[in-house]
Amino acid sequence: MAEYRTFTNDDAMRFADEHSGLFGDHSKLSCEEFGDGNLNLVFRVSNDKGSSLIVKQALPYARCVGESWPLTIDRARIEAEVLLKHRKLCPEHTVEVLHYDAEQAAILMEDLKDYRILRSELIAAKQFPHLAEQLASYMANTLYYSSDFALTGPNKKQQVGKFLNPELCLITEDLFFTDPYCNHERNNIHSGIRAEAQQLWHDEVLQAEVAQLKADFLSKPQALLHGDLHSGSIFINDDNCKVIDAEFGFYGPIGFDVGSLLGNLLLNYLGHFGLTADAAARETQQQYLLAQIETLWQQFSRQFSALMSSECREPALQNSLYQQRFMQQIWADSLGYAGCELIRRTVGLAHVADLDTIGDSAVRGQCEAKALKLGRELILQRHSLSSMAQMLTLLRYQQG
Ligand code: ADP
Ligand code: MG
Repeated sequence: MAEYRTFTNDDAMRFADEHSGLFGDHSKLSCEEFGDGNLNLVFRVSNDKGSSLIVKQALPYARCVGESWPLTIDRARIEAEVLLKHRKLCPEHTVEVLHYDAEQAAILMEDLKDYRILRSELIAAKQFPHLAEQLASYMANTLYYSSDFALTGPNKKQQVGKFLNPELCLITEDLFFTDPYCNHERNNIHSGIRAEAQQLWHDEVLQAEVAQLKADFLSKPQALLHGDLHSGSIFINDDNCKVIDAEFGFYGPIGFDVGSLLGNLLLNYLGHFGLTADAAARETQQQYLLAQIETLWQQFSRQFSALMSSECREPALQNSLYQQRFMQQIWADSLGYAGCELIRRTVGLAHVADLDTIGDSAVRGQCEAKALKLGRELILQRHSLSSMAQMLTLLRYQQG
């Protein structure tokens, strides 16, 4: 195809047809644009025999804001290449990319129509027994095998260079680590927690820790992150889950992916104080979430540690004391980034439905205040909370 242009339904159909063998001569194609995401166009192209594929195209601006927020279409390359790489490292839990076109900034990928978005399922109080186990495996494999433990120095540096992703990283740098801690016009603060939000702007102790987390985000290229691992980037069903939407991928601190996911499970946990009126049902769902949070960390740390001790090729990094310290540092980082996620999703630009859909405004305010309080504690106490059990005790104690 020629120069970039925004796809119409027909363009998306032609693109899917050209780059897949799914559509035989005699099948009729149809197409709908149905993306509910913030940034891109997402089309479903189907034939009349029940097969379908997804076409995702990056727009030269952020879809949710419009042309006044220009954004590089190179993010489609990052998304395609991170997904291809992660798929090699963890095929079970990464969406399959079939084709990527640099000119059109378009990706052809498998249609996960038998799956649902995890966030909506968790809001509806659904439970998936293998959720934590599967996501722990996704993170351990993708993060370990893209790290210095697995790659040679020169190869790793080449990879870091390929995934610099400065424009999308800048969005995270601003939205996660800067906006919530000042009176920024992009913030979105519910009237019920205005006073709590304002405290963040003057909390120098907290801001010092957030500065450290931001500095690490800027300068700790440990592994090829997904970069936006929230429950809206995960498709799930009773058997399996698959990760999509890796356009924020870059080489960064491992705890950022782990913490984003933990933070989103915690947001859902807190949301149920407002989402689920029946006390017994709420208790059941929250216990489920805590068990998943616990398993997520246990399985992730166990698998990552096992890989370090059995697979590491770099002699100096084989030292087991160093490897233990490395895990401790991922743990502290994960808590810190989880805390940042709780805070930025509550007062920053991009909220989550887990809190925003709570109908009763006063209850929503209470849940949001809990999120800010827990976020702050996780950031401040990330080095002193030495185990998941301690973290869960803090959570229970705080929620009273
Ligand atoms: P954005 O980057 O714009 O946020 P996403 O990748 O999150 O876009 O996709 C937006 C929506 O499109 C998803 O919430 C989902 O409903 C749908 N979608 C995206 N990829 C797929 C896929 N592979 N299969 C089915 N639906 C998809
Ligand atoms: Mg996205």
